[in-house]
Amino acid sequence: MSGIGADRHVVIVGASLAGIRTAQNLRTLGRSGAITLIGAEAELPYDRPPLSKDLLKSDWSAESIEAFRLVTASELGELDLDLRLGMAATGLDTTARVVALADGTSIAYDVLVIATGATARPSPWRPESGVLQLRTLDDSRAIAQRLTPGERIVVVGGGFIGTEIAAAAVGFGCDVTVVDPVPEPMARLVGPELASSLVRLHSENGVQTRFGVGVVDIRGAAGDLTVVLDDGAELAASTAVVGIGSIPATGWLADSGLTLENGVVTDPGLRALGAQDVYAIGDVARWPHAGRGLIRAEHWTNASDQARFVAAAIAQGIDAEYSSTDYVWSDQYDWKIHTVGWRDPAGASVVVGDLAVDGRVAVVHADASGRACGAVTVNWVRALNQIRRLLMTDSPPAVIAEQLEQLVQRAA
Ligand SMILES: Cc1cc2nc3c(=O)[nH]c(=O)nc-3n(C[C@H](O)[C@H](O)[C@H](O)COP(=O)(O)OP(=O)(O)OC[C@H]3O[C@@H](n4cnc5c(N)ncnc54)[C@H](O)[C@@H]3O)c2cc1C
Repeated sequence: MSGIGADRHVVIVGASLAGIRTAQNLRTLGRSGAITLIGAEAELPYDRPPLSKDLLKSDWSAESIEAFRLVTASELGELDLDLRLGMAATGLDTTARVVALADGTSIAYDVLVIATGATARPSPWRPESGVLQLRTLDDSRAIAQRLTPGERIVVVGGGFIGTEIAAAAVGFGCDVTVVDPVPEPMARLVGPELASSLVRLHSENGVQTRFGVGVVDIRGAAGDLTVVLDDGAELAASTAVVGIGSIPATGWLADSGLTLENGVVTDPGLRALGAQDVYAIGDVARWPHAGRGLIRAEHWTNASDQARFVAAAIAQGIDAEYSSTDYVWSDQYDWKIHTVGWRDPAGASVVVGDLAVDGRVAVVHADASGRACGAVTVNWVRALNQIRRLLMTDSPPAVIAEQLEQLVQRAA
């Protein structure tokens, strides 16, 4: 198989995980032709998971930030890219094969990779000041500056990012409340079997939770906010952090003719529908998942895997269907949570191990037909690796559970 001619110009829009990994993989696979990487942020590409974890707890020295870069300046130099950082793409003409840039110039492509990710879903509540959101390094720095002992922080949204911020904030001695309109939001993260243990973990660490109540307003200004809930309660806060999901960064593609439906819709090979030689990857892409239909997976491993997949398609002409590893992690206090595959609400799940007794657990999910489709583990990497192997060989849930029980017995 041979790839798209080496003399053809590859343009990548979005210089974060998916974008930089595409460029790196193209070079690793031997592609020597011109590659342009365009990124709206002026920063050297950095990793986002630490923004709600280690970086919040760091000293924000230059060294601690550098540790979370996805690439060093010298590695970037070796990639020999036409690098346009601090430059947003503002439009796409797929007939002329041209990307318009914020400075009024444009750049022609032969192959385009869209890797513009997502932005935090804007807060519907806009007091004078004091509402923070988290997507970028600057956002993380602004939140970290508010994490001082005694600060009253209300986190709106009990997803992974909101709960990670809550865990960091309480560690700094802040007075933290997490609000979410869903009665059991942590079930979305770890499933109903572990949700109450995760809520307990947060409350044991001092985080208060108000679940099943929505926010109707946030009034005031930084240092003196009132968060108004739909049950009539009012929470005083100095800072509110709103983490209510993200939206794909597709504004610049509005007139492109690509199919935009909660992301750039692609075929199974991650080719954007509506144009030739255009791929979409990472958080911005909505692609047909073999088990779950059209999805947008906003997870690190997916962005990295899709970058590798598309680089192989471009450099080697590999014409395949992207198959996801469906792997996600989150750190909350001393819990290392890993999920692999997915949970089918119509299927059954089996729990192996006991968090309260030995501090680790696995929950294996089956889909409605009884086939194993995923799992969540806490503090149990050996089980996670075993499950991943067994899912690949299509082992039944009972066999997976039995093998995990053997792990428990061997460790006893
Ligand atoms: C706080 C936080 C914590 C996370 N923690 C985890 C975790 O624990 N585990 C996990 O699996 N995942 C986690 N994620 C998700 C993971 O970071 C994302 O899935 C990953 O960053 C996606 O990479 P991406 O390159 O597709 O998009 P992004 O990282 O969003 O990057 C897109 C880039 O494109 C740029 N861009 C946007 N529009 C334009 C334009 N018009 N022109 C040029 N450039 C543009 C943006 O500025 C950005 O730099 C976390 C995300 C956040 C925000």
